[in-house]
Amino acid sequence: MKITAIECHVLVVPNLRQDATSSSQDNIVVLVHTDEGITGVGETDTGPWIAKAVIESPGSHTMAMGMKDLLIGQDPLDTAALWDRLYTYTCMSGRRGAVICAMGAIDMALWDIKGKYLNQPIYKLLGGAHKPTITPYASLQPDGGSVKKYRDGLVAWAKKAKRAGFLAGKMECTLSGPFNHAGLQGSDEQATEIVTACREAVGKDFTLMVDVQYLWRDAKSCLRTVSKWDHLDIFFLETPLLTDNLEGYATLAREAPMRIAAGEWLNTRHEFRELMDVGLVDVAQPDIGRVGGFTEAMRVCHMAEDRGRLIVPHCWKTGIGIAASAHMAFAVPHCPFIEYLPAQLSDSDLRRDLCDDGLVFQDGVLLPPTRPGLGVELNKDALKKYKAKPLLL
Ligand SMILES: [Mg+2]
Repeated sequence: MKITAIECHVLVVPNLRQDATSSSQDNIVVLVHTDEGITGVGETDTGPWIAKAVIESPGSHTMAMGMKDLLIGQDPLDTAALWDRLYTYTCMSGRRGAVICAMGAIDMALWDIKGKYLNQPIYKLLGGAHKPTITPYASLQPDGGSVKKYRDGLVAWAKKAKRAGFLAGKMECTLSGPFNHAGLQGSDEQATEIVTACREAVGKDFTLMVDVQYLWRDAKSCLRTVSKWDHLDIFFLETPLLTDNLEGYATLAREAPMRIAAGEWLNTRHEFRELMDVGLVDVAQPDIGRVGGFTEAMRVCHMAEDRGRLIVPHCWKTGIGIAASAHMAFAVPHCPFIEYLPAQLSDSDLRRDLCDDGLVFQDGVLLPPTRPGLGVELNKDALKKYKAKPLLL
């Protein structure tokens, strides 16, 4: 089998809000075609125009080759060898950042091809299921233009998630900092009130995580607040500090009363090694597209397992990435939750329309995917409906 063509689709919701912190508004869907008539699909969570340029740009010399040129004519089943080929011959422009994100979408598509070719779901090819079910957590989406509305919206979402059968939920509580919700300005004391209100709304028998989206600049400011959250039984605190403040993360990992989670933006196992060995985080959160695809995500999983840490993958795109997260979660023993928002609960039309993820959610858990490959059925009409207008450069 040989790779014959690669298509990149840049998609954007019609009501795009550039001031919103929500990457479910855009996407790049990558289709890898073969001479056997099998097509693989992948996506990645980064600037979609950038990823498209990375994949389609021609190369100029052996250290800055074009990704498409490196793939055409190759056997798509050679996933690890192709990962190495792409990494090595894009090294001058790549090694991290958008190049690795783009590689992630391609690697995801190659594994989809492999599963379809061998007529097996991907988790089987990754080593098989370690458990009969996996547990998704609902990402609770805030709303409202004031702190009170934001709190009421989160509490309503928490109750809605519980009613929908979820056993776990993650509340985004971002009242200030670089990614504060729609210009809100709230205090750390108000954040504590919101987390408390959500815990009271869902009761004891519900796993609650908190994402503050890089809120604090230093570990002591964070500890001043989160040390008061011990009795609220927070499963993990996500991205309390800027990504590269590894010393700060290490302080939190030692002193905070809950697990510290991070890693959603990281590329390759090399960045995760630093996060785990210098930053000492308890929960590594690879996003399969961004970390470099299944090939690299599984390496991160093995590194975390060796160090006694947990994996809880980040995923905020569409059913393509969510299906990828599910396959990986089945294939490792130390992944207690995946991020998962059922399409019908999402506020993104693109998320709802793009594909059927093939996942079955019942009694708060997800069953193993049954279709070959990723098991995703793409809605080709959505590729046309959400096609981004060409950029005027
Ligand atoms: Mg997050």
